[in-house]
Amino acid sequence: MTREQALQKRDRLAAQLSSATEILRGSLLQRTTHHSSGCLKCARGEGHLLWVLNVGYPGGKTRQVSLHREQVPQVRKALGLYRDFKQTLEAISEMNQFLLRLDREESHKRERES
Ligand SMILES: [Zn+2]
Repeated sequence: MTREQALQKRDRLAAQLSSATEILRGSLLQRTTHHSSGCLKCARGEGHLLWVLNVGYPGGKTRQVSLHREQVPQVRKALGLYRDFKQTLEAISEMNQFLLRLDREESHKRERES
């Protein structure tokens, strides 16, 4: 790969990061909740299905956000965007790493030639 190709590839990747407003980190979980009293469904042992956004933090902490069923598609999409963003950031970092190595090789070459 030439420097020009690496720069072009990096800039194309960076352009994909322009729509960062909707990203969301975490994972979707489904839980069943049970009311302790006064609910016929729960009295029958059925319970209620609940969607939860589970977000992990350093130190093993997690935060859970209850979701309305209608929010699930939107959350699923936003979680996918987060994964795409991470992959794109990683790819840009690889390109910059390549460019660093290229810069070093070229300055070595210049030193030898002068
Ligand atoms: Zn209930």
